[in-house]
Amino acid sequence: MAKTEFKAESKRLLEMMIHSVYSKKEVFLRELISNASDAIDKIYYKALTDDSLTFNKDDYYIKIIPDKQKRTLTVLDTGIGMTREELESNLGTIAKSGSLAFKQEHEIKDGHDIIGQFGVGFYSAFMVADRVTVISKALGSEEAYKWESEGADGYTIEPWEKKEVGTEVILHLKENSEDENYDEFLEEWRLREIIKKYSDFIRYPIKLAVTRKKKDGDSGETADTVEEETVNSMVPIWRKNKNELKDEDYENFYTEKHYGFDKPLKYMHIRVDGTIRYHAILYIPEMVPFDYYTTEYEKGLELYSNGVLIMNKCPDLLPDYFSFVKGMVDSEDVSLNISREMLQHDRNLKVIAKNIKNKIRKELLNMLKNEREKYETFFKNFGRQLKYGVYSDFGEHKEELQDLLLFYSSKEKKPVTLEEYVSRMPEDQKYIYYATGDSVERIEKLPQTELVADKGYEILYLTDDIDEFAIKMLEKYKGKEFKSVTSGDLGIDTDDKQKKEETKEDKALFDFMKDVLGDKVKAVKASTRLKSHPVCFSTEGEITIEMEKVLSAMPN
Ligand code: ADP
Ligand code: MG
Repeated sequence: MAKTEFKAESKRLLEMMIHSVYSKKEVFLRELISNASDAIDKIYYKALTDDSLTFNKDDYYIKIIPDKQKRTLTVLDTGIGMTREELESNLGTIAKSGSLAFKQEHEIKDGHDIIGQFGVGFYSAFMVADRVTVISKALGSEEAYKWESEGADGYTIEPWEKKEVGTEVILHLKENSEDENYDEFLEEWRLREIIKKYSDFIRYPIKLAVTRKKKDGDSGETADTVEEETVNSMVPIWRKNKNELKDEDYENFYTEKHYGFDKPLKYMHIRVDGTIRYHAILYIPEMVPFDYYTTEYEKGLELYSNGVLIMNKCPDLLPDYFSFVKGMVDSEDVSLNISREMLQHDRNLKVIAKNIKNKIRKELLNMLKNEREKYETFFKNFGRQLKYGVYSDFGEHKEELQDLLLFYSSKEKKPVTLEEYVSRMPEDQKYIYYATGDSVERIEKLPQTELVADKGYEILYLTDDIDEFAIKMLEKYKGKEFKSVTSGDLGIDTDDKQKKEETKEDKALFDFMKDVLGDKVKAVKASTRLKSHPVCFSTEGEITIEMEKVLSAMPN
């Protein structure tokens, strides 16, 4: 049969997978089980919401079948299955995943730890197998198909016999070599260990089917009997008690769910038993997702209705300014049959969303107080989003967010909170001063900062485009107004003796300068704020020089 070539991107990824010698090979099983579980989620959800389908909970399971004679390992599921077209598009291309774009952007040359990093699950089978066969029958379909591939040079698809709806993934394990052992993936103890480690909380039974030789008592002949044993505890991690769980369990869940390719910076396990009940596990990623500050990025949490997944990314659960949060929510008080459109208006969901928002805020404040370094890492990555949050929606969220902000301080030489700034203000200081520029180094050289710094006042250095917009939106913090060091009136009493009257010569010079500069400046005046610099710009009105720059760079 003629082979169909993989799409170019898939082919490259596949090659990386096959030659990957670094990542833990055992994770292929986690990936295949996770796909099986996803497929059962889909059929289970259908059965629960579609009256024409009957269902029996015992019908949903995953089976792991090692066969030492054939050197195959089979992962079988009773999930939704795939049609011929789905076999083509789901296993023949990875166009849907953003992983390849990421890899290219970051020039990751080999497959080093690529599985741990991206959700390119299915292909991980090729780390341990030199041939992979997938036999699948889709729900509502009469025919079944066999998909088969020996790696990067392509795959075949042909009609096949299969009675039950679902999928079987058969791995033809590679031969052992001097430094690689694949036989272990046929061993009962090893499979049990891997399943326990990565897939314990999968909500469907994972049955390990082991063939044992049994001697018949009477005839003395040996016969093969297959014993099945459910290996996983099936209690989803979010329903377990926090004290039963270790950091590692939360980290594994994060990876298993492909919430991110990093390690989470922080996790939160929430259980609310009020009038509205829900469980949630939320994460703050350590690294910025590659598409985070683009329009491609989709915020949202997984939403379960009493244990059944109803949406992969429910955006209504997170405000935009916390869009970096990953995780899931499970609630008995959200209906299984709810449509996307209705979700937006669902009262219970709104209550949950508000509750979650407050918990995230509290957690961040906690981190700021108790784990300053961690918080600074967080803020370096996602602070922009918080500042954007202050500015957006006409400042509606500013009260909520202002205490989460950090700005670089001229005095402390590190990021500080507004609270810290205000608590250090001398009594005669009227304003919270700030200066804007591309970098701390450049701001330090600004002549306009001299007078303020000379008075011994602290200055906040705003180096991010959005900073000043956020500051303007805040207007005040604890009753203290913000003031740019470039503004005309700094509210600083200057020494009267120093205040020079403008002489005739001065005026002639200033008029000349104004003539030369023309429309570029509004006026040229004598200033009392300069020390070591001969000249500086200052502004009148609301818009500062930096804001003007940003505004003029913005598309109309
Ligand atoms: P992901 O799970 O992140 O989507 P994978 O590479 O693991 O990526 O799987 C690709 C796709 O193949 C899945 O999204 C799914 O549509 C399909 N698929 C894989 N395994 C199964 C399965 N056992 N049953 C049904 N569909 C599957
Ligand atoms: Mg997968």
